[in-house]
Amino acid sequence: MRLLVTGGAGFIGSHFVRQLLTGAYPDLPADEVIVVDSLTYAGNRTNLAPVEADPRLRFVHGDICDAELLAKELSGVDAVVHFAAESHVDRSIAGASVFVRTNVLGTQTLLQCALEAGVGRVVHVSTDEVYGSIDSGSWTEDCPLEPNSPYASSKAGSDLLARAYHRTYGLDVRVTRCCNNYGPYQHPEKLIPLFVTNLLDGSPLPLYGDGGNVREWVHTDDHCRGIALVLAGGRPGETYHIGGGRELTNRELTGMLLEFFQADWSRVRPVADRKGHDLRYSLDGGKIERELGYRPQIDFADGLARTVRWYRENRDWWQPLKSRARTETTGVPA
Ligand code: NAD
Repeated sequence: MRLLVTGGAGFIGSHFVRQLLTGAYPDLPADEVIVVDSLTYAGNRTNLAPVEADPRLRFVHGDICDAELLAKELSGVDAVVHFAAESHVDRSIAGASVFVRTNVLGTQTLLQCALEAGVGRVVHVSTDEVYGSIDSGSWTEDCPLEPNSPYASSKAGSDLLARAYHRTYGLDVRVTRCCNNYGPYQHPEKLIPLFVTNLLDGSPLPLYGDGGNVREWVHTDDHCRGIALVLAGGRPGETYHIGGGRELTNRELTGMLLEFFQADWSRVRPVADRKGHDLRYSLDGGKIERELGYRPQIDFADGLARTVRWYRENRDWWQPLKSRARTETTGVPA
């Protein structure tokens, strides 16, 4: 099977590629894996270092808005997994246009090129944020899209284009929507790595508002396994939630992280709340469990402990990214 993975140098895409090439997904025997990534601030070739020597891997430094490049690379490809996106909500609030370009135009360009190249299957990786915010209960896959941030709106736009390419042209596109991910190799601008690396650095933890926002957390390894199941056995044109993670307020999560470092709340610096901050996300994961037997496997406390350990042991990976990010953004988390 020849696979093309967009955004394969990012946090989740690189995990998928590392797992794929080390045989974690037996239903996806990979003869060739082509990673297309434009290496924005969030893309990092070293994320693929553990599999770099694998002769089946080919890295293409390219933009998903470049139709000519995609047409060339998609020739003979059996399946596409589409991770490439601008992914940080705060950056989308500071400047939305690059989010529309990559997430909407880039996705449309990829879908059109996949259609023209006769690609058999596309998985479009999306997010729970497309639904907006939910006070109680959980979203099912047929709930209306009511995104609130420019990031979420651009992802919702890309989800609707995926739907249109299936309905209009018959392209086999499957959409996955996952909750918040955590794990190794996540850029230190995002909440968990920001707080962990600030704790390691002795810097304060910038907590939004009263910390009452609720997020559902799933380990990126579980997310990627869900994507692999959808690619191998999902139905064309369908959307699948990859949820079932641990629901926590940001305050509860901060408390757990402080405990790992035996630090107290004096380390926390409350900051003005994010504009349009969604209160709560919650996905109903029943469909993927019924159809594909998926359930997250990694216990949150255990996965978080392992993630903290990874950041402790990999300062060389995150320190340069953090220094660069500090000069570009406000330094508050996703
Ligand atoms: P990331 O920001 O870590 O990685 C994005 C990757 O895409 C980077 O390698 C970047 O260089 C690349 N990229 C960006 N613009 C590109 C372009 N125009 N052309 C080619 N490559 C480009 O993101 P992530 O956290 O790994 O998220 C991956 C996908 O999963 C995204 O689509 C995101 O919306 C979705 N998602 C993320 C989460 C989460 O918690 N991180 C949760 C649910 C869904």
